[in-house]
Amino acid sequence: MGAIAEAGYKTAPQADGADVAIVNTCGFIRPAVEESIGAILDLVELKSRGSVRLVGVVGCLVARYGGELRQNIPEVDFWAGCEEIAPILKALSGGASEFSGDDGRRRLPGSSSHVRYLKISEGCSAACSYCTIPAIRGPSRSRAVGDIVGEAAGLARDGAVEICLVAQDLTSYGADRGENDGLVSLLDELETSLPGDLWLRLLYLQPSGVSRALLERVAGGRQVLPYLDIPIQHSAPKILNLMNRVEGSMGMSEIFETAREIRPDFALRTTCMVGFPGESRSDFEHLLRFLEKIRFDRVGAFAFSPEEGTVAEGLPGQVPKRTGSSRLERLMAFQADISLSRQALFVGRELDVLIDSADADGTAEGRSFREAPDVDGVIELVGAHRGARPGDRVRALVTDASEHDLAAEIVAGAAWGG
Ligand code: SF4
Repeated sequence: MGAIAEAGYKTAPQADGADVAIVNTCGFIRPAVEESIGAILDLVELKSRGSVRLVGVVGCLVARYGGELRQNIPEVDFWAGCEEIAPILKALSGGASEFSGDDGRRRLPGSSSHVRYLKISEGCSAACSYCTIPAIRGPSRSRAVGDIVGEAAGLARDGAVEICLVAQDLTSYGADRGENDGLVSLLDELETSLPGDLWLRLLYLQPSGVSRALLERVAGGRQVLPYLDIPIQHSAPKILNLMNRVEGSMGMSEIFETAREIRPDFALRTTCMVGFPGESRSDFEHLLRFLEKIRFDRVGAFAFSPEEGTVAEGLPGQVPKRTGSSRLERLMAFQADISLSRQALFVGRELDVLIDSADADGTAEGRSFREAPDVDGVIELVGAHRGARPGDRVRALVTDASEHDLAAEIVAGAAWGG
């Protein structure tokens, strides 16, 4: 989207009636493949009715199944895999693109202009037995520190007040260049070069790369938020082994216990997978006990899906789909109580809240360090001034809590009282 905008094209609010419609696909797991194909077919239908002129398909699905797709959906006008920008611009300009191709990086659009995402590396060099990403995206390649710092500064100039650093695994940043503490050094560079009140949020830290030094660095950060999104996938050693999840310098419990020991408020988020081949009832119970022990603020979970071409697809002991679904349901219900009790700890306390949206009636919605954009809950605010705008920051007293969201009253800040 950044490259298309830079080349002078305008984005239409909807596909119907646009000159060109492009699907940015995901091909990571089967449901995403099915959803992407559905979206492509919807656009092909619009094209057959004359409502769009050209249809393009880009991203992971093209990298994974490009050959088959080209054969089966010939109505698509152009295709481009991950990070391939030149073919898109060439198609848009009718083949006359002068795009020379740098490293293909463009500023990623955010959910709004005050929240932006910044990708620091591409690909993954791990080999989790269920995962298609290394095959689709290739090994981990870290961007140069100077490029990232420059892009972050540009985002801040454009009005970003929260920047989320993203990658398949932030902790492996710099490892492809032989660096040990690449992420910590990058945070040092970013913190010194960015405005002091900007929020930096780290999304996706693989447990094997988490060290005490990193936890202390995050906890003591000036702009880095005390928020950790560390996908564990499972806790039972047998299952982690089958998943080929490598243990790092810290044990799984040790990571989270250390984080909470350094800073009891640390917001902890994780992701779990249930129904992995070989997962017995007691392995699943092990995972529930682990969630009970750590008391994550938030957990995302999904049931194993056997992906074509992965090692896990052929493992013995495949768990019936029905069992996977019921374990998923049970895990989410189990975690709901834990999430609620973590949320309740903040009732009666004040938090710094970034406003994401505000209404003229004095209500607004925002997030604190504990809520990542789009994936976590929100804070419903009352007491906002009529002129409150997205990107403003306020101090708010938490008055109520539910499993996902908090309610709070604004007690001070740019949007209050004036
Ligand atoms: S670390 Fe993440 S992206 Fe890399 S192989 Fe494992 S699950 Fe896939």
